[in-house]
Amino acid sequence: MRRTKIICTVGPASNSWETIKGMYEAGMNVLRINMSHSGHEDAERAIRWVGTLNRNSPYTVPILLDTSGPEIRTGQLEMPMKLRRGDDAWISSSANGAAETASPCIEVNYPDFNDHVMVGDTIRLDNGLINLRVESCEQDALMCRVVDGGVLESHKHVNLPGVHVKLPSITSKDVDDIRFGVENAISYVAQSFVRTADDIREMREVIGERHRWVKIIAKIENQEGVDNIEEIANEAHGVMVARGDLGIETDMAELPFLQRTIVEKTIRAGRRCIVATHMLESMVEHPIPTRAEVHDVANAVEQEVDAILLSAETSIGAYPVRAVEYVRRVAEAQEQLPGLRFARSQSSDSHRQQLAWSAVELAERISATGIIVITRSGWTADILTNCAPPTVPIFAFSNESHTRRRLALNRGVYAYRIDFSSNPEKTIQRCIKSLLRREKLPEGSPMVVVSDAVGLGGKASIQIRQLQMPVPSQNAL
Ligand code: PEP
Repeated sequence: MRRTKIICTVGPASNSWETIKGMYEAGMNVLRINMSHSGHEDAERAIRWVGTLNRNSPYTVPILLDTSGPEIRTGQLEMPMKLRRGDDAWISSSANGAAETASPCIEVNYPDFNDHVMVGDTIRLDNGLINLRVESCEQDALMCRVVDGGVLESHKHVNLPGVHVKLPSITSKDVDDIRFGVENAISYVAQSFVRTADDIREMREVIGERHRWVKIIAKIENQEGVDNIEEIANEAHGVMVARGDLGIETDMAELPFLQRTIVEKTIRAGRRCIVATHMLESMVEHPIPTRAEVHDVANAVEQEVDAILLSAETSIGAYPVRAVEYVRRVAEAQEQLPGLRFARSQSSDSHRQQLAWSAVELAERISATGIIVITRSGWTADILTNCAPPTVPIFAFSNESHTRRRLALNRGVYAYRIDFSSNPEKTIQRCIKSLLRREKLPEGSPMVVVSDAVGLGGKASIQIRQLQMPVPSQNAL
């Protein structure tokens, strides 16, 4: 069974029943809604398709809602602005700036722009396609030299590498989108432009105690996020290497090194890890990926991340289902080889962590068909995921639907919902029965069963069981 999970971004190319079902059949495990490009109406439609899918499919697909975050954008232009290499260009946070300059002025929606950007800084527009260098600072505007020219249109992304931007980490739009999401049973919020652990704490407040099972994924998109990765990973449920912005905000040549650093530290912290953006970008237009893209996917699989995220490939691409198939096939091929085995988490909850390590070692030693974990909150399944069994899959059973849903992101975990019995033996038999019915696993093969304190009558334990249909007297379970 494939261990690396696949997250697909929904968009105009895929927000239909046929494509969402097609992507699921091709290997999609999680659906991402990017609120930078989606209104509530489109998001609602996607959530409805996933609801239908989940009622009719063996594995549930959770929703990851990706916030817009504190974006800086250029203003409205009456017509596209041509910027030629070597030209002067003015840029300002106020419309006044424009009035006072001779050349046309680019307006941005960041009020403190003129105070925080200094002479010598680089300003990247439209995802780094147009680059300016600041030459001088006037009162209401910055005079820049065009380093890489192009045609600028309205409302384009502005990135300020190395500039400590003082914007609120969560905008009022984000709050609105999160309220919408939690009312629609999302499992994850991906928080954009996380810079410190405080940003995560603030997000937790916004999500609120009532929806505490909604987990936060911190998107690392700039140098400040990289510098604080340890404290961020410790506070968040997971981390996303958001290579789109990260590649603009930092030196692109260092991106492979930054990815490896973030992945390594996230794994060490025992958190979920996602690698995102431009995984198979050429498939936005072409039916097959490039060799380099295949290699990039294989590299993330080798780093043993939990999931790979497709953005434009599935949201606006011409081949959304084929892109998912390619990620699945590359992951399946690469998983035949040993991974990089970065140092793993040593959780402070040492009793349960030791139990998990022992269960994984035992399962590998006896070549078990799987590890069954009985878990209410999903925590025991999380720490088993952190032990990363090299070959044995983890089958997680929970009596909570939201736990079952969110575990779809965990590397190597397949999750199911069952009702727990007050009799621990009955609960185990229900798991075995469910597995034999739903998975084509060899009857009689050995399984390792791990139960947390809640799942099995207050006793944490590891057991070896045979995968055998319960005898008739137990069939009434
Ligand atoms: C990214 O920057 O890589 C990313 C995933 O974020 P977004 O798509 O919101 O820019």
